[in-house]
Amino acid sequence: MAYISMVVCGHCDFGIFQRVAGDTQTCDCGYVTIKQDGSVQATDDQDFYREFPGLNIVHSEEKLRRDFDEMEDRYGRVPHGLAMAQRLSNDKRSFKIQKRRHFEDDLVQVASLTEE
Ligand SMILES: [Zn+2]
Repeated sequence: MAYISMVVCGHCDFGIFQRVAGDTQTCDCGYVTIKQDGSVQATDDQDFYREFPGLNIVHSEEKLRRDFDEMEDRYGRVPHGLAMAQRLSNDKRSFKIQKRRHFEDDLVQVASLTEE
């Protein structure tokens, strides 16, 4: 298990977190970024995001580090960040954060949504 601090964008609802110290993450719409030093920066002064420190996730620090080191980038960003962060902070159990889907899967999904 690992402890993370998640930042949830108020615009796109992506949750982002540093996998290791020095990691940088940006939400899906680009509004909010966690910088290398761990500070959080929005693209305007509205600060339309929420921070959830000390969330416990099921993945090991080792796994997150490997994801970072090998640039696999499957962790660090999650859709529906607010719901995830609230579940993690209200509940003492740890939850598995879904791996990010591959781009191809997104395209297939879009295609199936538009197929009639
Ligand atoms: Zn966003």
